[in-house]
Amino acid sequence: DITTPEPISEAELVFEGALRPKSLDEFVGQAKVRGQLQLLLQAAGIQGRTADHILLAGPPGLGKTTLAMIVAHESGKPLRMSSGPAIQHAGDLAAVLSSLVPGEVLFIDEIHRMARSAEEMLYLAMEDFRIDIMVGKGAGATSVPLDLAPFTLVGATTRSGMLPNPLRDRFGFTAHLEFYADSELEQVLHRAARMLDFDIDREGLAEIAGRSRGTPRIANRLLRRVRDYVLVHGGDADLAAVKAALTLYDVDELGLDRLDRAVMDIMLTRFGGGPVGLNTLAVSVGEEAETIESVVEPFLVRIGLITRTPRGRVATPQAFAHFGVANPQGSFL
Ligand code: ADP
Repeated sequence: DITTPEPISEAELVFEGALRPKSLDEFVGQAKVRGQLQLLLQAAGIQGRTADHILLAGPPGLGKTTLAMIVAHESGKPLRMSSGPAIQHAGDLAAVLSSLVPGEVLFIDEIHRMARSAEEMLYLAMEDFRIDIMVGKGAGATSVPLDLAPFTLVGATTRSGMLPNPLRDRFGFTAHLEFYADSELEQVLHRAARMLDFDIDREGLAEIAGRSRGTPRIANRLLRRVRDYVLVHGGDADLAAVKAALTLYDVDELGLDRLDRAVMDIMLTRFGGGPVGLNTLAVSVGEEAETIESVVEPFLVRIGLITRTPRGRVATPQAFAHFGVANPQGSFL
């Protein structure tokens, strides 16, 4: 789907690489996190040590990878990229850790999906820049300590609640990234349009921003589709062109995608607005509960279509209104 917050193709990754801000100053929005990171990096710089380990938490597409790259860039150190799913055994992690150069920034995306055995190795590595390597097998196996170069770990997760406490506690700083305000997305888009040499007017940019689910990755992607549209159909890149292009791709005014709509449809029509439990919802739309909880739900909550209650998820009156479904609660008023 065009509004999926994860990258949808290799081509998109290349395109994203070109648009990534390289410094904290160029990074739009997340003012609080930016200020906190700035301080952390400056303090480390003054003391001539590696920066504390950083955990970046938040839904996909909000800039976690970009921030990891910026941390490396601003510290003038190389960046090593890895991911939780790629670390299936402690040995995978040992290979990465033992080859780091002093001060290197190690980025582990989706860190909550790393193997348990590797997690334990990571605790020691984060704390003491040391790991224990098992040598030999069976009764004769011994563990040999290995010193590591000091490094800064930048972990990213869509679900900080899924991290074991001992891991979470070893980060010096946790940044919770929030969805972007429309005005911030307009800045992201303005910058991207300039870099793409695409002449689009303010109203057009504002319209794209409003349909981008608070997510820079989606904003940039929609911008490209609008650019295609104008290229093919000619004319100005204005509000009318944006509306026509995004209608073609089924992106509605709220930026809801197919999965959002499926979730809302089930909640409103099958469960009369709820409360519905997370697992019931996930099974009903044929998605993993994790995706519903970390990607779909935060956005639906933020735009006021659902609320979370102790008994489950509940659709709001706005949701009934937006989808034109009669509200069973409303009929009692
Ligand atoms: P995540 O790792 O959280 O999934 P990324 O860092 O890969 O997200 O960001 C996705 C895309 O959005 C990148 O192309 C990046 O350039 C753009 N982007 C993200 N955050 C910002 C920002 N604050 N300012 C400008 N562009 C951003």
